[in-house]
Amino acid sequence: MVQFRNIKGTHDLFPEELKTWQMIEKKIHEIMQKYGYGEIRTPVFENTELFVRGIGTDTDIVNKEMYSWIDQGGNSLTLKPELTAPVIRAYVQNQLNKQHPIHRLYYFDTLFRRERPQKGRQRQFYQFGVEAIGSPYPEQDVEIISLAYGIYKNFGIEKMEVKINSIGSSEIRPTYLALLKKSLQKYIDDFCNSCKLRLQNNALRLFDCKNSQCQEILMEKAPYIFDSISSDDHAHFIDITRRLDEMDIPYVHDKSLVRGLDYYTHTTFEISSSSLGSQDALCGGGRYNDLIQQIGGKSTPAVGFAAGVERLILAIGGMKTLESSIDIYLITIGNEANAMASNIANELREKNDNIVILETLRRSMKSQMREANRCGAKHAIIIGEEELANGMVIIKDMKTSKQVELPSSDIIKFFNSKS
Ligand code: AMP
Repeated sequence: MVQFRNIKGTHDLFPEELKTWQMIEKKIHEIMQKYGYGEIRTPVFENTELFVRGIGTDTDIVNKEMYSWIDQGGNSLTLKPELTAPVIRAYVQNQLNKQHPIHRLYYFDTLFRRERPQKGRQRQFYQFGVEAIGSPYPEQDVEIISLAYGIYKNFGIEKMEVKINSIGSSEIRPTYLALLKKSLQKYIDDFCNSCKLRLQNNALRLFDCKNSQCQEILMEKAPYIFDSISSDDHAHFIDITRRLDEMDIPYVHDKSLVRGLDYYTHTTFEISSSSLGSQDALCGGGRYNDLIQQIGGKSTPAVGFAAGVERLILAIGGMKTLESSIDIYLITIGNEANAMASNIANELREKNDNIVILETLRRSMKSQMREANRCGAKHAIIIGEEELANGMVIIKDMKTSKQVELPSSDIIKFFNSKS
């Protein structure tokens, strides 16, 4: 028999783990909405060209990590490898700019990258993130950074580092890249094969390389893009850092932080946590003032971040097995009792908001009681043939084992007084 297995780098999530997910998701929705952000959901696949144009041809994602295929109609499609380009595609396509001058959007979504799987790095993973579209001002960058920082604080993560940088506007890039290439050309033989290509095609992406020898050359020989930015962009950056100081958000200025996607301009930032091990990035983001125009919209400034959900779970200490939340297990003997119990279960769910499980395996009384214990139900309601005939039920407190017998018509009142 063929044994099917999940694809490497993907995970199945089961009910207990998903309780942690649901708790996280709920909290994130609440915090986002407190900041005035509204949720957006985009399709799971898009035209490949959207990502090639948005992320850039010489980036790791586009070069080697996209799940792309040609469909039956001959279109090249790709499973989302990042979530900003699809949001911006939706913004442009639906002409949201005509509705308001500013849009604050957030998402909680899944994405796909063919990376080498390891702890904290998967091929299908989840991100939450925001895109604030419309404002060019530093206060918008700061809102984004403080929102990300605030979320991690809210989850009790202490060991955080915020790194921030500015890579300036795209106008300065050709001059800087020429300078970078000139400074590094003589070391080309010492770079890894990918960096050899990067140096020719898209030299800013050299900073994405994790190879220690490449990093060493960069540290010693490469000029930083920050030192080439305009005075306006410098002022923008200083304004951000001043506001972060005022908000008591600690940060370090990391001039090598350029982020691995071509659409960034001006601010780039990352939050990491030393509790995560080698894959220590919790979230990353920045400004992307050119992306909207690049994918066919009107030039509009924007800034956002994306944060890994699995990394957040690792940072809060893994999936927590939360206490069982089942209120009542309905034990029944015989068909008629079971049919009546369905109504009782629904009434308890609707009127009392109770979490109720009804036996459907027709097990013996003893097995059903064992099951009520196993799933951690707070109470069991027992309806046997005798109880059914008398219009009574037995209610057992599973912790104290105390039992009471009462008319079935009093069940709702009984559990109402418990909540
Ligand atoms: P990026 O979209 O690459 O800027 O990543 C943003 C955040 O997503 C990172 O800071 C990580 O928290 C998370 N992340 C990125 N790649 C992966 C991956 N392969 N598996 C799990 N989480 C990831």
